[in-house]
Amino acid sequence: MSELDTLTKEQQEIIEEARRRRTFAIISHPDAGKTTLTEKLLLYGGAIHEAGSIRQRKANRYAASDWMAIEKDRGISVTSSVLRFEKDNIKFNLLDTPGHKDFSEDTLRTLVAADTALMVIDVAKGVEEQTEKLFEVCKMREIPIITFVNKCDRPGLEPLEVISNIENQLGIEPIPASWPLGYGREFQGIYDLIGKELHLQHKEEHGAKKAHTEKYNLEEGLKEAQLSDHEKEKFREEVMLTEDMMKMMDEEAFKNGKATPVFFGSALNNFGLDVFLEYFAELAHPPQPYLDESGNEREIGRGFSGFVFKMQANMNPDHRDCAAFIRITSGKFERGIEVTESNTGKKVKMSTPHTLMGDERNILEEAYPGDVVSLFNPGSFRIGTTIYSDDPVKFDVIPLFTPEHFRKVSTKDPFKRKQLREGLKQLAEEGVVHVFEMPNGVGNELLLGTVGALQFDVVEHRMETEYNTELHISSVSYHAARWLDQNQEIIEKLESSYSTHVTEDMEGTPIVLFDSGYALNQAEEKVGAENLYKFKQG
Ligand code: GDP
Repeated sequence: MSELDTLTKEQQEIIEEARRRRTFAIISHPDAGKTTLTEKLLLYGGAIHEAGSIRQRKANRYAASDWMAIEKDRGISVTSSVLRFEKDNIKFNLLDTPGHKDFSEDTLRTLVAADTALMVIDVAKGVEEQTEKLFEVCKMREIPIITFVNKCDRPGLEPLEVISNIENQLGIEPIPASWPLGYGREFQGIYDLIGKELHLQHKEEHGAKKAHTEKYNLEEGLKEAQLSDHEKEKFREEVMLTEDMMKMMDEEAFKNGKATPVFFGSALNNFGLDVFLEYFAELAHPPQPYLDESGNEREIGRGFSGFVFKMQANMNPDHRDCAAFIRITSGKFERGIEVTESNTGKKVKMSTPHTLMGDERNILEEAYPGDVVSLFNPGSFRIGTTIYSDDPVKFDVIPLFTPEHFRKVSTKDPFKRKQLREGLKQLAEEGVVHVFEMPNGVGNELLLGTVGALQFDVVEHRMETEYNTELHISSVSYHAARWLDQNQEIIEKLESSYSTHVTEDMEGTPIVLFDSGYALNQAEEKVGAENLYKFKQG
């Protein structure tokens, strides 16, 4: 008897639906090609027929909605949506995160809602800073990571150099899954190391259409390839060296994010994408059970549950509206169901949920684990809120990330202290910014902390437009921070150092601020690095 036979019909349906979902997020540094690759995945996934529309849609969105002046001014996307496409009966949910330089905690939180991370690396640059930060979150969650080395049509590191760069920078084991035939200007296709086929490719219509592809076995393909005999010989050697690595990959190491299959290609020219997408569907995880607050797995087939991983306010400035993005963790979602908010016990009817595909909003009738539902004007929902229909559960899955940028803030008008606290408290609850008491602070000032510096502009703008409070923001000299437990002994030890300052956020969670990297090192020695948290479960 199979595992499915003991379940009710509805549970079977839920599990089967969940199994064909792949919910993933892209981790990359700006300019590595995330936007281009996203679009090409939609092209190869059959969701669009010609590339170019996403950028177009991005541009239209700025024109149609100026919900946030900053977004428009800087021509970047501060917010993110979910892109869905279906291919060969597999449903992909791409939790689209912004890829600009000033990234925010939102970008990190999105990874908490993803089952797989797709790491995009620029072949010329190797692993870059923002990718490393995002990688830390993947490591914490132990989710599988699949790597795409992009821009192989440009001069860059040689494939073997990329492999060792990934290993050295991230301490993860890279396992070649495809291999580029020629690189830079000579890049002309991909060897599929799993299927053992050489794909010779030509770009079509500057990459707007799928690449023209001819498949050969290795030797036949090499006869057709435009490479010198010496380069062909080198290619054979590299293939010999790498071709069995995927077969021997340690499944557990891959599942826990300790080994990553590496694909090569060019998103711009559409080289290597067919091979990549085919194996991505196989390799990427279907939804896994999340752990509830007691550490027990919430089985996928149980009653409906989910958690809010992202809040987006003021999508339309005329209505002061707000959307909560909910990752479904178990059960079936149906429009109109009544859910309970686990921390307040409040009941909410899910009557107008939407999914967002770019800018077209479709009302969603049903959804399964792995899917994301966005609910407009969700009242008291906050980041991390758990909801369930009739089978109670509470998740505590959204960590506090360590702020890396700090500013001191007060109101220009001294009579607006109350608005300052109230407004900032709300923004903190929405997850826009961390708000702390100033260490040894007096009067009117509060301390803001963010993961990305752009968030300060967001805070300033929103405080002015939504709370009618003009801020005075000034710099402070804090260099780094670490979250703490409520442990008086450790707090006292830390407070005794001159360049180390303990304070707390508006919920009373203690945090320590350091004036320098040296002060941080000193503290690690004094109280133990294991007591200073880079991420803290909220
Ligand atoms: P993002 O910032 O990561 O979203 O990067 P984009 O997708 O916007 O790409 C950044 C730049 O790199 C753009 O000018 C793209 O046209 C270019 N680009 C993306 N993929 C490739 C590629 O495979 N080859 C080359 N030569 N350029 C690419």
